[in-house]
Amino acid sequence: MKSQIYIKCPQCQKNGLIIENRGRFLCANCQYDYTPLNEDPGKLDEILIDNLEDGGGPLGAIALYEWITLQPPQEAARHIQQLAKDNKIKLF
Ligand SMILES: [Zn+2]
Repeated sequence: MKSQIYIKCPQCQKNGLIIENRGRFLCANCQYDYTPLNEDPGKLDEILIDNLEDGGGPLGAIALYEWITLQPPQEAARHIQQLAKDNKIKLF
């Protein structure tokens, strides 16, 4: 799987391509590892909200959530829509 998803990285603060390496999801710029966020949903949400607010759009956030939590796409989309709603962010 080759990712085309850019996420604003909480570590280097750049929009980094997400790369998948042996089941781990890393920032291409600084190798920040998103995978452990599976056990830290609050921090994961923070990163997702930051990306939605930054205008990165919902698709990257949905894909990241799906990969990290291993939820089906519909559930990931539902979660992102809920996050946007709770934080009064307009998605489209
Ligand atoms: Zn980074």
